[in-house]
Amino acid sequence: MRKKLVAGNWKMHGSQALTRELCAATAAAKPQDVDVVVFPPSLYLREAVQVLAAGGAVGVGAQDVSIHAGEGAYTGEISAAMVADCGAGWAIVGHSERRADFRESDHDVGRKFSAARQAGLKPVLCVGETHADHVAGRTLEVIERQLAAVLDHNPIEAFVSAVIAYEPVWAIGSGLSATPEQAQQVHAFIRSQIRKKDANISPLTRLLYGGSVKAVNAAELFAQPDVDGGLVGGASLNAEEFASICQAA
Ligand code: 13P
Repeated sequence: MRKKLVAGNWKMHGSQALTRELCAATAAAKPQDVDVVVFPPSLYLREAVQVLAAGGAVGVGAQDVSIHAGEGAYTGEISAAMVADCGAGWAIVGHSERRADFRESDHDVGRKFSAARQAGLKPVLCVGETHADHVAGRTLEVIERQLAAVLDHNPIEAFVSAVIAYEPVWAIGSGLSATPEQAQQVHAFIRSQIRKKDANISPLTRLLYGGSVKAVNAAELFAQPDVDGGLVGGASLNAEEFASICQAA
């Protein structure tokens, strides 16, 4: 009942030319029964929107938005409304690189989620434990805390269209993905947390796995009952590999 979704987070990679190239290739290879969204650097959102407007069905989103919903003296910031104004429809919030490198707190992520939603963007909320938390057996505790900061301050109805991505920090860019069983266990837990708020909405929320998703492991990860697709980093920069991952969904 949940349509699979594959998202490509390009992080700080690319150029105008690469944006056009990757977007055109992604549109050409998109399977009909899978939703696909690309997240280029914000500076290239317009380029992506223009290329994909022709091809139609591939979504575009920003990798981050400001916590400030309105305009103001916030040098360097990009608001969710500006992202929407550029024609993009999605925004990642709470990526672990922003949490770690830019000191974003759970509270900040909750505000970003609200800002994205209020601007009409579909948020992709990232959660995930560090290696230290993983080995200490604190995975579910961390996920519960990260989710609560968003679930407690937003209407649960937001999770009909919002997406949650489980990205264990130890799996990102490491080549060592979670096993399908590990991913399923955490995804089932995430769904149970939404169910506590609303049992009608929890079956609708799409939950993505991210962290070293490649063409070779995508199919077995996506075959898990609560894994509704992937948030792909490095492999989304290779048009052929990203196409294979989309086809595995
Ligand atoms: P990799 O696919 O490169 O591990 O990155 C995952 C990620 O952080 C996507 O947001």
